[in-house]
Amino acid sequence: MIKVDVRRKAFGEEEVLRAIRFEMETGETVAILGPSGIGKSTLLRLIVGIDTGFEGKITRPEKIAMVFQEPVLLPWRSVVENLTLVHPQLGTQAALSALERTGIADKAGLFPGQLSLGQQRRLALARAFAGRPELLVMDEPYVSLDPAMAEDMLSLTEALIAETAPAVILVTHSEAEARRLARRCLRLAGKPATIIEEFAAKPASDGWEGHHDRA
Ligand code: ADP
Ligand code: MG
Repeated sequence: MIKVDVRRKAFGEEEVLRAIRFEMETGETVAILGPSGIGKSTLLRLIVGIDTGFEGKITRPEKIAMVFQEPVLLPWRSVVENLTLVHPQLGTQAALSALERTGIADKAGLFPGQLSLGQQRRLALARAFAGRPELLVMDEPYVSLDPAMAEDMLSLTEALIAETAPAVILVTHSEAEARRLARRCLRLAGKPATIIEEFAAKPASDGWEGHHDRA
């Protein structure tokens, strides 16, 4: 369903990614791990199709949602309009229940700037899932949250993934986060970056487990 084959991605002389290949099934969650600056966000931009300047081929579904490191919201639209304007097929009632599901229904009439950072992230999450994406891509969505809030967001994300069943790509530099949400983890390293290791995180029920060195 999702096939990533990035042979080479460079910015001018700087080669950032090389020979990154993996495939994903519907409903699968894959974590991409690697230190800051390695090329994770660059890879995500290729996967979702925002950046098309690379050598290789990516097969992706039609309906893609992305959650960024900093929540990207419409500042002069109300919380509920941040859902209904992005998903016109979603009625106000459905938008309100999406807000209810993420615990911010009482904020429906406020502007995003009137929400705490945690509430803004909940809104970004509600909006991403409300479109029932086939592929959900998350770029370090829990960075700069305190541990309790990160835990809240993690369990909310876990529940929404279980309910909505999209394919999910989670980019993070936290191995704990990766292991929590994804069964399959890919580790990026090197310059240019490539996948140096693939390992199973959650206990596998279908026999896929253990370490596989790909270096
Ligand atoms: P990560 O998300 O893992 O922290 P990035 O993908 O943001 O890493 O960046 C990887 C490398 O690519 C960095 O060296 C960064 O400076 C470079 N880079 C990212 N975007 C651009 C761009 N638009 N132009 C030039 N260099 C870029
Ligand atoms: Mg990044």
